[in-house]
Amino acid sequence: MSFIVAIDGPTSAGKSTLAKRLSKELGFLNIQTGAMYRCVAKLMMDNCVSLDSIDEVRKILKTLEIDFKDTKDGQLVFLNGKEVTSEIRTKEITDFTSEVASIPIVRTTMVEMQRNMAKRKDVVMEGRDIGTNVFPNADLKIFLNANPKVRVKRRLAELEKNGEKSDFHEIAESIYKWDEEAVHREIGALKRAEDSIYIDTTFLTEEELTKIVVGKIREKYKDDQEL
Ligand code: C5P
Repeated sequence: MSFIVAIDGPTSAGKSTLAKRLSKELGFLNIQTGAMYRCVAKLMMDNCVSLDSIDEVRKILKTLEIDFKDTKDGQLVFLNGKEVTSEIRTKEITDFTSEVASIPIVRTTMVEMQRNMAKRKDVVMEGRDIGTNVFPNADLKIFLNANPKVRVKRRLAELEKNGEKSDFHEIAESIYKWDEEAVHREIGALKRAEDSIYIDTTFLTEEELTKIVVGKIREKYKDDQEL
């Protein structure tokens, strides 16, 4: 049986950074489920498929292949064999993804893919509905959150790194909209699992956060082996 760490929380709460560090430190497979929804959005955009043409969405999903490859410079995302790591992080794709992720057939397809990916390996999987819906029996569930202003600043820094310009108010508005969409979506809504560990990352450095969670994983690993 593989060991599953589920990390959930809103945009820019620190999930990807934590998942990356955990996967490096512990050798777990890192699955960014947000990148998977982004790939669907990109494929729909490239093929001019609109949100309400469900038959077309279904067809697109049948052709979909997503791969993650770890390199020394970070994780690369491949969509149908083509590397799309930074292309799927633009503001345009991010906005569209938030809507695409609410389509029920998209969610059921993604959840099935995510469960299959975690069958043979220890994984750290980050997203919005991992501890509640994808792996309700995950070995360890972490829910991250941070002060809204800090989240906006982190998102701005991420966009800047990707060569995109934006301003504080625009991003604050977008984050508010994405949060609303994620929390109110009919299936797979962003919700803290009751048995998750809640961590506010506002005042934590990446190192401090990683240390806390590695400690929790080691404790859980030890407890599981003693059972
Ligand atoms: O985490 P990231 O920002 O890459 O997620 C992109 C989009 O996919 C967000 O709108 C988020 O709400 C959605 N998403 C989701 N379920 C997940 C992961 C991401 O609906 N498990």
